[in-house]
Amino acid sequence: MSINVLQLADELRTEADAYVYLEQMRWGDGHPTCPHCGVLDAHYFLTPKDGKSRKTRTGSASERRVWKCKACRKQFSVLTGTIFHGTKIPVRTWVFVIFDMCSAKNGISAREIERKYDLTPKTAWFMAHRIREAMKREPIAGLLSGTVISDETWIGGKPKNKHGYKPQSKRGPRTDKQPVQTLIHAETGEVRSRVVPNIKSETLRSHLFENVDYKNADLHTDEGFGYGPVGRAFRSHETVEHRSGEYVRDSVSTNKAENYFSQLKRSINGTFHHVSTEHLDRYLAEFDFRATTCKLTDSERMAMVLGRTGGRRLMYREPAAA
Ligand SMILES: [Zn+2]
Repeated sequence: MSINVLQLADELRTEADAYVYLEQMRWGDGHPTCPHCGVLDAHYFLTPKDGKSRKTRTGSASERRVWKCKACRKQFSVLTGTIFHGTKIPVRTWVFVIFDMCSAKNGISAREIERKYDLTPKTAWFMAHRIREAMKREPIAGLLSGTVISDETWIGGKPKNKHGYKPQSKRGPRTDKQPVQTLIHAETGEVRSRVVPNIKSETLRSHLFENVDYKNADLHTDEGFGYGPVGRAFRSHETVEHRSGEYVRDSVSTNKAENYFSQLKRSINGTFHHVSTEHLDRYLAEFDFRATTCKLTDSERMAMVLGRTGGRRLMYREPAAA
């Protein structure tokens, strides 16, 4: 499946179209389990009285498609229990914003979403964060084996250039730069980044051990001494010397990590301007997702996100004036 934004607009002319589209993407030709009681395929479609739309509690017409479970007698829609659940934002808007976030190489800022779809700043911000939730890798992602590159970078502005900057005391932190450790699977291109408190040996090791089947993996890093002890646990450990400008030697390379970091920094500087430390992990999830799926088309990437919208932790409440 590969469609462009014009074809998507053709498919989603009405809000009811968007519900059908999302049902296809999430449920496919199979049948959903009831989000309330978990019973499979025991539901029937509730046809609105006038055949088209139903009245909401406030009396306005809604094109929401509602199903009813025969087992527990409760109603649900394709939105129940997903990142879209309980929002007043039209499903059409959600799908288009997801398409945008999946197709923009450097990401799309909440400000751009706000302008493009005429939303309030809070709503745009809320949507972007919920969509990032769906971009996160599966909680039980498998361990990586084969060739794994590990590298670190520092993300964050130069504090002295920032508005309202107050010099820290001599003993205080001199910078608000945040270290990030990134693992890249050389064979598949899968990327797993995370914000780390520091780049000490134990810290780098824990991210590696949580993600890599180290006995069956070759580790590629720069010559940073932090990798010495952990490197010995791996099948092999090869290093390149960044200090002497070396990024590639024979088949040893940390180039992929350097490319990832430069894209990430370009996006943060150009699109997002400043990312607070607390949100950096979520932005990393978005960038990891795009990097991991870079060989897919925009619409294939969107289909992946739509398929992952169920069963995600919901961490943001919708702003009151959506
Ligand atoms: Zn049920």
